[in-house]
Amino acid sequence: MKPIKENIQTNSICILGLGLDKNSSFQKGPALAPNRIRESYFSSSSNLWSEKGLDLGSLQDLYDLGDIHFKKDKDDFNLISSSVKAVLDQGNHMICLGGDHSITFPIIKAYAQKYKALNILHLDAHPDLYDSLDKNIYSHACPFARIMENKLAKRLVQAGIRTMNGHQQEQAKKFGVEVKEMKDGTDWIELLEFDGPVYLSIDLDCLDPAFAPGVSHHEPGGMTTRQVIDIIHNLKGKIIGADIVEYNPDRDFGSMTSMVAAKLLKETIARIHEDTISFHFTG
Ligand code: MN
Ligand code: MN
Repeated sequence: MKPIKENIQTNSICILGLGLDKNSSFQKGPALAPNRIRESYFSSSSNLWSEKGLDLGSLQDLYDLGDIHFKKDKDDFNLISSSVKAVLDQGNHMICLGGDHSITFPIIKAYAQKYKALNILHLDAHPDLYDSLDKNIYSHACPFARIMENKLAKRLVQAGIRTMNGHQQEQAKKFGVEVKEMKDGTDWIELLEFDGPVYLSIDLDCLDPAFAPGVSHHEPGGMTTRQVIDIIHNLKGKIIGADIVEYNPDRDFGSMTSMVAAKLLKETIARIHEDTISFHFTG
């Protein structure tokens, strides 16, 4: 992961930190996440190889763009959308590190301008489909309602869900969301298939709190780290972007959860590289 020193070559993967947590309904903390995830990514307790054998340390087309610095009284979401759009317009792919889940709406706003038939795979304990929560329509509990009502995705699949309620069930039905709830088992993991580009949004609370305690909302009964990695490795489709959100360092034990986030980041970089870069010839 190189800091930007020169012009970024086209068809690269860019990492961007979005430490925004003011739309969190329960606890703050994710604002501090991006750098903690970077620290774990480079931790000498592990190495920079993906499980499938890609040496991320030697990639020439992987850049760290640093963090967006949010300013008081400025429109955070416009800043996110325009920053992401600029990177996509240059022909590059993005992985954003949250921040809370509210950031996914402005990210997808930018993606939808480039990809007209976008699929989204959303891993989360929560459907995040509230029309509004605590009078905030941009709450981290609402991004997928905003995405769907603005018709920014052709297909939304949610998995890991274990907090469905009446209102969000109605919302899911209204927007045609495919919801895979934990109570119905996880056989679908081997069958995930998408037609066209896939954006992967990983809320770390999709994982059971036993695997990822460093999140604001501990919701028992979740996925294993292995299952999430298997999804990243095996889903059929072309992953063209991702976010990893809701890491809350204040709730972590040591760097247990940031290591999970860093691991998922490594595997996601490798998958995007495999899907979008390995097959392109340059020069
Ligand atoms: Mn979420
Ligand atoms: Mn969640």
